[in-house]
Amino acid sequence: MPNPTQPTEPFLPFTRPTIDDETIAGVCEVLRSGWITSGPQVKAFEAKLSEYFGGRPVRVFNSGTGTMEIALRLAGIGPGHEVITTPLSWVATSNVILEVGARPVFVDIDPITRNLDLDRVEAAITPATRAILPVDLAGLPVDRDWLNALAHKYRLRVIEDAAQSFGSTWRGRRIGAFGDFVSFSFHPNKNITCIEGGCLVMNDEREAKLAEQYRLQGVVRTGQDGMEVEVLGGKFNLTDVAARVGLGQLPHLAEFTEKRRELARAYFAEFAARAAAVLALRLPVADFTQSNWHMFQVVLPEETLALTRADVMAAMHAAGIATGVHYPAIHRFALYRRLGWKDGDFPHAEYAGRNLLTLPLFPAMTRADVTRVVTALVAILAPKV
Ligand SMILES: *Cc1c(COP(=O)(O)O)cnc(C)c1O
Repeated sequence: MPNPTQPTEPFLPFTRPTIDDETIAGVCEVLRSGWITSGPQVKAFEAKLSEYFGGRPVRVFNSGTGTMEIALRLAGIGPGHEVITTPLSWVATSNVILEVGARPVFVDIDPITRNLDLDRVEAAITPATRAILPVDLAGLPVDRDWLNALAHKYRLRVIEDAAQSFGSTWRGRRIGAFGDFVSFSFHPNKNITCIEGGCLVMNDEREAKLAEQYRLQGVVRTGQDGMEVEVLGGKFNLTDVAARVGLGQLPHLAEFTEKRRELARAYFAEFAARAAAVLALRLPVADFTQSNWHMFQVVLPEETLALTRADVMAAMHAAGIATGVHYPAIHRFALYRRLGWKDGDFPHAEYAGRNLLTLPLFPAMTRADVTRVVTALVAILAPKV
């Protein structure tokens, strides 16, 4: 608890983007250039992303949500189709399935990884199933070998919601460099940002061309003055201002990921040093090679804790530290209840949704900040220790 007689430390957010001066100057140049919406910066950003993903076709969009919606359209998913996904994610993950007229089929999480439990996926496959849409929660990758084997066996498409796993790897290969459709978000909370935006990694140029049509009103331009509209597209294009921010972030990816892993290690060391006080606290999987550590999340022990999660969050806030909830279980939202889901459908996701707590983790944080967070949390959870 802060001592009111001492100067208090600055408020610690749970995340914040790191944007360097070179990028800020670059954005000013774009603003002065006379071309601020989709143009050369978007093309350059797509080229750099494609290079990162081993040459696979990449297109950028104005949000990660729009990116996933376009992936579903490219996969031909619509009314009458089912898509298997996790109930523990940002609600965008399943909203996009509803948006294209299909039905999400939730499968409970593995309480250890907090990701879709692939063990349970096979039993959820029906003749209407068209795709599996997994999420790498907090950056911890879903087992890609198993996922792609399942998809192959049942001839399903895979739309990886990799919004949180830019920079993560699976068995030494970059997430996005292999697989079917892979969707990323560049929201400011994600490991790299372009303010708002996202990108989709696809399989071939035919998909990339169709993605461009879905991205901007279905328009195809030819020659000097030719314009045709072949399919119904929307308004999902990224601005050059945003693309310039993204271009300035990419060179820092390795350093950001390394820093996040270092801070995650520090969290484990701090918690280990206070084992007695936090025995019942559930820590994330200690993966320092594959995860990009998008978030550091603990699960509070609701069985033994006298406080509610809201109490813990309020006490942390009073100590000058922000925490977050990522996420409440999706099927418990009113919209989803109206569609037929109810409490008890996915017990592991519900437990995690009630008790997960996201602690601060971002590249500009220090080792001392980690000590401060753990000291405050332990004092709140076990005040007598
Ligand atoms: C952030 C996020 C999205 C959506 O991305 P936006 O860019 O905010 O639209 C989708 N799924 C997951 C898991 C996310 O974390």
